[in-house]
Amino acid sequence: MANNPTHARPGWVYLVGAGSGDPELLTIKAARLIDEADVIVYDNLVAPAILDLVGPQVERIYAGKQRGDHALAQEEINHLLVRLARAGRRVVRLKGGDPFTFGRGGEEVETLAADGIPFEVVPGITAAAGVAAYAGIPLTHREHAQACVFVTGHLKDGSMDLDWPGLARRRQTVVIYMGLSGLPVLCEKLIEHGLPPDWPAAIVQRGTQPEQRTVTGTLATLPALAAAAQLRAPTLIIIGTVVTLRDKLRWFEERGA
Ligand code: SAH
Repeated sequence: MANNPTHARPGWVYLVGAGSGDPELLTIKAARLIDEADVIVYDNLVAPAILDLVGPQVERIYAGKQRGDHALAQEEINHLLVRLARAGRRVVRLKGGDPFTFGRGGEEVETLAADGIPFEVVPGITAAAGVAAYAGIPLTHREHAQACVFVTGHLKDGSMDLDWPGLARRRQTVVIYMGLSGLPVLCEKLIEHGLPPDWPAAIVQRGTQPEQRTVTGTLATLPALAAAAQLRAPTLIIIGTVVTLRDKLRWFEERGA
């Protein structure tokens, strides 16, 4: 038992990916650790349907982290995890998607490692994988894209510091996290660096959840289409000719969630 890593141990922190929203996309390990936890520290990105799985005996701490809604600053979260573990609790730090993909999970475990707190990291289905599957847009495809890059589209002072020539390549899919407000800049830059204005692009709101909505267009049209659709975060942007496959491969929205 003491050596079985699948059972939560007192004084440990489990950094767990909750997947992109559909509770059935949790791993068996994530579900088990949630079940065995004394306390769960969660982000705003963790879907309500997943929090419904948390038993009433488990303490819940909301760590926030929406723009302008920093319930707890990152430093405070790091120290909170240390404190809870030192108090002998079984701590599950639950994060949307995968903890090591744009999740600041690295920073959290760095603090744990520095303070000698034992931890494990449980991967989750990152938004790119979940959204692509449920929107019917393969990330790679022999006839369309041999590579796929994930980038953050978070704006800093109204601009994005990205490797534009590297992103504006054909036979590649570009997935942008946190890109909703930067969408116009993003599309403009990719055109400026050589992709055609009619290059296919899609934006998906709350993928894998009942509120999933997908808007498709081109680099030239997507910003206006997304604005007209009044999409809200979280959204994921997918750029590349793989987007055209959605016409044939879409299934989730049709099925009726
Ligand atoms: N660690 C997370 C990403 C955190 S960054 C993961 O691996 O998925 C937050 C960004 O993830 C959001 O701004 C959005 O771009 C994306 N995202 C997360 N869940 C999403 C979902 N269900 N649908 C669309 N985008 C999502």
